[in-house]
Amino acid sequence: MPGELYERISQDIRFTEGLTACMNCGICTAICPAAEFYDYDPRSIVTTVQSGDEKTLKDLLESETIWYCGQCMSCKTRCPRGNCPGQVIQVLRKVSQETGAFTKSRKGRQQLLIKDTVGKNILKYGYCIYPATAYPEKHPEQGTVWKWVFENSHEVYASVGGNYQGKGPGTLRKIPREALDELHRIFEYTGGINLFNKIEEHSRKKALELGFRKENADPDMEVYTRFVENEQ
Ligand code: SF4
Ligand code: SF4
Repeated sequence: MPGELYERISQDIRFTEGLTACMNCGICTAICPAAEFYDYDPRSIVTTVQSGDEKTLKDLLESETIWYCGQCMSCKTRCPRGNCPGQVIQVLRKVSQETGAFTKSRKGRQQLLIKDTVGKNILKYGYCIYPATAYPEKHPEQGTVWKWVFENSHEVYASVGGNYQGKGPGTLRKIPREALDELHRIFEYTGGINLFNKIEEHSRKKALELGFRKENADPDMEVYTRFVENEQ
């Protein structure tokens, strides 16, 4: 019999729209780019959700698996039943964040870092990725040229027609205060701020439990050390 988790998942409109009756054909897995690189199988995720089994659902929410999806939605285009595993995964991620299950997996714990960077950028600047906060020492994947771009950002973006931090139209323009306030209200109204708070609250609990300190944290877990340091 479906339990509390299934009830919670099935109330989300993305679930009702994203999963009708899966027939286990595996086409979604065949087309999924994430399945090529990770131990990841959207077909079995959908089967687990469809089963409604509380224990298996709990394990799924605590696993690394749900964080491997790249949200490309290729699965939707091919499913013969019109299902969208990518959308079902959005719901699983949300429930994992709300319940704190995400803190059980390493990939899940990276949610705090994403909230602190991408989430903060959206609310503060109106952009997911904002050049001024992409510090070269934090982004070695950008290569050595990034340091130069970072230090000469105004000239570089202007040379390709951008309007970095400028008034008026153009790429990377400064987003007006009224628009940012409106964005904030949208996040409040739709539950985004609440979800950010939940991530913060559950992460804090986990950080204290694991005793994350600068000496024992890898770079993407460093954000957790602030909780432990604030306690001292
Ligand atoms: S393609 Fe659709 S029907 Fe086939 S396994 Fe995936 S979700 Fe189920
Ligand atoms: S949305 Fe996720 S599950 Fe669907 S094809 Fe893309 S990576 Fe795979």
